[in-house]
Amino acid sequence: MRGGGRILDLIKEVLQTSFRLFPWPTEPGLRRIGRPDRSSPVLLTGNYDLSVRRLLRVLEGHDAWLLVAPSGGINVWCAAAGGQLTTHQVVTALKTSGVADQVDHRRVILPQLAATGVLALDVFRRTRWSLRFGPVHMRDLPAYLASQEKTDAMRRVLFPLVDRLQMAVMWAAPIMLVLGGAALWLKPDWVLPLGLLIASMSVAVFTLYDRLGTARRGGLATASVAASVAATVLAGGSGLAIGAAVLAPTLLTALLTFDYTGSTPLEGGSHFEERKWSITLDTERCEGVYRCWEVCPEACFEKREEVRKVELAHDERCIRCGACVVQCPEDALFFQDESGARIEPDVIRRYKLNLLGQRSIEAG
Ligand code: SF4
Ligand code: SF4
Repeated sequence: MRGGGRILDLIKEVLQTSFRLFPWPTEPGLRRIGRPDRSSPVLLTGNYDLSVRRLLRVLEGHDAWLLVAPSGGINVWCAAAGGQLTTHQVVTALKTSGVADQVDHRRVILPQLAATGVLALDVFRRTRWSLRFGPVHMRDLPAYLASQEKTDAMRRVLFPLVDRLQMAVMWAAPIMLVLGGAALWLKPDWVLPLGLLIASMSVAVFTLYDRLGTARRGGLATASVAASVAATVLAGGSGLAIGAAVLAPTLLTALLTFDYTGSTPLEGGSHFEERKWSITLDTERCEGVYRCWEVCPEACFEKREEVRKVELAHDERCIRCGACVVQCPEDALFFQDESGARIEPDVIRRYKLNLLGQRSIEAG
């Protein structure tokens, strides 16, 4: 890439990382990476510009076909969970992009986080393309392509510091834009302290979020209100102190109590906590196909090779994404509540239903 292209790429990277809450669509279609031939791997992703550009960077030096399917310009995880990247989009992309004329094989690799919305079995029935779910993180793609093996580390969604900082930027940037713009207009000397306040709170929240726990988050938000009132009184009630006293706890409370379902891999939505739907395995039906093991982003399953079955060994980690339920060819997995009411796999598949968001669900 030339100097001008690199600068443009950097500007796009900063803008898109800062405003990831908004769609950034790129043109769908078939792209070449390097000099692919008829045996080169075919990868498929959504048409989220940030992901596509990062993917192209990760695969520099490799030869592959990249099929960009329409996903509403948003990332694969949100698109698959929200119904923008489904079996239909994948089937259409495979049938209309011309990729079948370019390769001799019929194997396509999708990001693992597409498994909530894209049914591998249906894609095969409708196109005869065999679909594999690759690693969660694109940084693992070169190793996966070289070995064709998905290690445990490649399957699990973690939330490392670099991802936490990106999340902090993503939430801080739009808030800064709105509040900073208002401050610039009303009180320009507040812009810098306000920016620092928002940035530091956002970084602190996303660095500590899962370590605080729900009860501590509520306590911290309440304590911040008390601390702000005390600081205002001590500061003699100046305009800046009053402004900070109003804004600081409001921001902190909003950041601490917002339901980040889907935007972080830390936990499921508050909805399922209230309803207590649990992932349940019918061991009798399990035939040891291991699709659930392959797609679970929280590594809830462990293989029991000796009996060709899985064990739901870490169900406490489950975020109710539904990926295992929709991919299991034996319908051995479903959601069940405390009363024994069930949401059957067919319902989850038919209505693109997962329990990640604020959804109202009645069993049956
Ligand atoms: S639960 Fe379903 S997907 Fe998982 S191993 Fe058993 S049959 Fe396969
Ligand atoms: S066990 Fe839970 S987190 Fe894992 S794939 Fe199934 S629904 Fe998703």
